[in-house]
Order: sequence, then C-alpha cells, then structure tokens
Amino acid sequence: MVDFIKKISPEVPDEDKSEFKVKKFRDNNLRILILSVFLVFEQAYYGYFIQPNGSIVEQLYFISASLMVIFAIISAYFQVKKPEQIKLLHKIYEISIGLTGLTIAIMRILFSPQQVFRLPTIYIAVLYGMAVYFYYNYQQSFALYLVAILALIYFVPIFKPNLKHSYYVADAISNGLLAWLVSIFNYRKYVKDFLNKKLIQKKNQQLKDKNEEIKEINQKLEELIIKDDLTKIYNRRKLDDELEKICARAQRYEQIFSLVLLDIDHFKLVNDQYGHNVGDEVLKEFSQLLLDNIRDVDICGRWGGEEFLIISPATECEEALDLAERLRRTIASNDFTKVDNLTSSLGVATYKENDDIESLIKRVDDCLYQAKDEGRNKVISQKNLN
Ligand code: GH3
Ligand code: MG
Ligand code: MG
Repeated sequence: MVDFIKKISPEVPDEDKSEFKVKKFRDNNLRILILSVFLVFEQAYYGYFIQPNGSIVEQLYFISASLMVIFAIISAYFQVKKPEQIKLLHKIYEISIGLTGLTIAIMRILFSPQQVFRLPTIYIAVLYGMAVYFYYNYQQSFALYLVAILALIYFVPIFKPNLKHSYYVADAISNGLLAWLVSIFNYRKYVKDFLNKKLIQKKNQQLKDKNEEIKEINQKLEELIIKDDLTKIYNRRKLDDELEKICARAQRYEQIFSLVLLDIDHFKLVNDQYGHNVGDEVLKEFSQLLLDNIRDVDICGRWGGEEFLIISPATECEEALDLAERLRRTIASNDFTKVDNLTSSLGVATYKENDDIESLIKRVDDCLYQAKDEGRNKVISQKNLN
C-alpha cells in the first residue's frame, strides 16, 4: 500500500528535495502557529464558559488549550529559528498537530454525553480542515486518516456500547477516505506550484546565462569589427569612421582637430633581419607604446602595415607637433624587446576651413613623406611643408 502511494505521489527531483522539505515545513509551521494561537483562546473560552463545570468535556477543552499553548511555543520558535534541514523530529512535529486535532475530536465523540448517530461537526471540521489547511504528503495523510478510522471503530463500541456499528463505521471510513482525497489534491497542487516556480526560476537563470553569453559575444564581435587583429588597437575601419565623425563636427561647429601619421623607419629591415614573427611582436609593442603616450581623448589606430594614425580632438597644430615630437623621441629611445632601436617618421596636419578627409589625409601623408625624404626619425608639420 505504502509503495502504491509512493508511486502515485508527485515527484520532486532529488536536487530540489531538501529545499521542498524546508519550504513545506515552514509553510506548515506558519499554519500551526496561526491555528494554535487561535485555538488556545477558543478552546479555553469554550471550556471555561460553555461546558458544564467539572465535566470531562470541560477537561478535554482545557487539555486541548494547553496542548495548543505548546504548539504555539514550538511553532513560534521555528518561525524565528527557521530550520535549514528537516530531520525526523521536525516531521513528527509537523504531523503531530494533525494527530492531536484528530485525537481531541475523537475523544470529544467518546466522552460526549449525547448518543452520537452521525459524525459530529467538530470531527468533520478537523478531518477536512486538516486536509486543506496543512500540506501533508500522501503517506502522512494516509497514516493520519487510517489512525482516525481505526480509533473510531475500536473505541466507539467501548464508550458507546448502545450504538449500532452501522451508524458510524461507514461514516468513519467514507469520511476518512474523502478527507484523504481532499488532502491528496491539496498536496498535489502544492507540489505542482513548487515545481512550476522552480521551473520558472531555472528558465530565468538559463535566460540570464544566455543573455550574458550573447552580451559577451556581442562585445567580442564589436571588438572584432573595430580592432586590428594583430595589435588590438583600432583598425582602419574604425579610424575611417572616427575621421568622418570628427570632420563633420569640424565642418559644422568649427571644432579644430589634428592628425599625426607615423611610419616606422626601415621596418622591412626588421622583417628581413629578425623574421616576420619578430616584426609582428615589434608592431604590437610599438602600438602599446603609442597608447601609453597619448591622451585618453586621442584616438590611435593602425592605418595599415607599419603606419599608424592618431586623431587628436580639440588640438591645435602646435600642440599636435609637441605630441608628435614627444612620440618620436619616446620611440627612438625605447628599448624594444626583440630589436635594438627603432625610429619613426611623423607627419602632422590640422583641420583647416574647406578641408575634407581626403585633403587632410593627403596633407598629413605629404608631411610624413617629406620627413622620410629629409632623412627619417623626424617630424614635419603642415607649417614646414614644402
Ligand atoms: P621606410 O622607412 O621607407 O618606411 O621603410 P620601410 O621598410 O619601413 O617601408 P616599406 O614600405 O618598404 O616596408 C614596409 C614593411 O612593413 C614591409 C612589410 O612586410 C612590413 N609589414 C607590413 N605589415 C606587416 C605586418 O603585419 N607584420 C610584419 N611583420 N611586417 C609587416
Ligand atoms: Mg616604414
Ligand atoms: Mg610604410
């Protein structure tokens, strides 16, 4: 029978089992707290004011009020000190409120002075109330209702010998079974709600993870689109974009800017002497050196091969010349890891009225080539352009 009940019980996956047990215990405990506090007063009131003084029924009311005080204290304790793990004692406590309720209800029947022909309201209330109010799994509720049925069948003839069996046995069994069914539906819904919530939580987490993944991929894609594969500084495409933007701003709002174009001197020799891989390493180191020596607002990228372009917003020709000169010196004196020394030639051009990207780039290129012509390791600005 127990195996059969286990088979038809709704399954909580192993990984969620302990969380489910804790949740079920806490939900039941809160219900025990509310119910027991209410019953302390209700039972005491009935015992004191309604039942005849000194009667057994009055005693029963006082006993149940006292038991409820104990339940109120225990449930208040668990409410404050929420258990993280549900042990056997917790389970016994959880079910003992149901057992207590049923025991008291049955004792009321047995000690009631009236001859009972049908199950009294109090018993029915406890039976069904328990089924909808507490969350007991199939086995727990089955055990409770079985005990109730057996107790009634066993004790009623002892306490009420005049009563015909057929009056209450059928009632006890059918109501016990019905209450068990009600408890089953209540518990099923409780488990389903829990499982649904868990599923939503898991799906949400998966969505969150996927979103993070997509964000990362997007970031990488964005980097791939704007960064140079080898040096990881901006690529030609990004430089073209930035040039277009800054040129449009300069034309519309007369905001000045300057360009510095650098070309490594005799770079072919580096490749020839040390090999292409070393050449690549030098280009990387060279790029980092540039990044380390410009302002945050400056945009530095690889214009192509061993040529680099720096876009300097809000920078006059003189300031750009200073920057270029500083870069030339820094490069010439830098100790590159794989090669001894390296020099560069630089051209400097500043936006002028009626300039467009083409005219500006041509000017800075002319400056650079004049620097090469004049012996390399040199800066030429548009002011010294022949
Ligand atoms: P100049 O002083 O006149 O600029 O001489 P140069 O040797 O630097 O100029 P040239 O244009 O003759 O040669 C440029 C060299 O840069 C040739 C090319 O192989 C090398 N180069 C361009 N891109 C890369 C790269 O990505 N990696 C490596 N290792 N070499 C590159
Ligand atoms: Mg070169
Ligand atoms: Mg070149």
